[in-house]
Amino acid sequence: MVELKTDTSIDAMHEAGQVVGRALTAVRHAAGVGVSLLELDAVAREVLREAGARSPFLGYRPSFAPTPFPAVICASVNDAIVHGVPDGYRLRDGDLLSVDCGAELDGWAGDSAVSFVVGTPRTADLRLVETAERALAAGIAAAVVGNRIGDIAHAIGSVCRAAGYGIMDDFGGHGIGRRMHEDPPVPNEGRPGRGMPLRHGMVLAIEPMLIGGGTDGYRTDPDGWTLRTTDGSRAAHAEHTVAITRAGPRILTARQEG
Ligand code: MG
Ligand code: MG
Repeated sequence: MVELKTDTSIDAMHEAGQVVGRALTAVRHAAGVGVSLLELDAVAREVLREAGARSPFLGYRPSFAPTPFPAVICASVNDAIVHGVPDGYRLRDGDLLSVDCGAELDGWAGDSAVSFVVGTPRTADLRLVETAERALAAGIAAAVVGNRIGDIAHAIGSVCRAAGYGIMDDFGGHGIGRRMHEDPPVPNEGRPGRGMPLRHGMVLAIEPMLIGGGTDGYRTDPDGWTLRTTDGSRAAHAEHTVAITRAGPRILTARQEG
């Protein structure tokens, strides 16, 4: 069942979303060659703590997971697509890092992710990251009253496929509200004009996950969480929490850095 949010609730979700945005900005600024993923998790924890926010990631245990998630961010490096578990790994020059973060404030959730290169970038990685951002922007632009879920999916998928990338399609976007994961699912590929009609008050986490090598496959690490490309190629993930309003899509997790 899809819960429509009131304008007041959307404002409250914006507050939660801003905490997520600040956490991602802080992590991005802290990330550098030699910095560990656990140190980045600590940076995000501090932002949430200062805001009085709770982490919906910490202790999260969906049906596929063997253990509760131990951190407030997912940190996915290079061929890790999503759900990377922060550990003592120290970032190296040229690593492609995807950071996903959530926050719950006053009972409302926000969820957002960003990918970027640490140190000296490879041209191919910059293109992959730029395409993920462009796919996200296309999905958000399609998140308007009168469209359907399939229009968002089609917009995202078209950008990814045109650039020659694979799409990690078993996981995708989702409704969000008092819980981080709500109905409806928001696939990253689909047919336009199909699926649930978009209405004022729907809030969605839109999140393309691109595979640089062009295949769609993934495998799960022995940790039961980290999902990696099967072809060893690098991956990128971009996500925003977006409210659908009569005035157009409203990005609730927008960051100051852009
Ligand atoms: Mg997320
Ligand atoms: Mg999400």
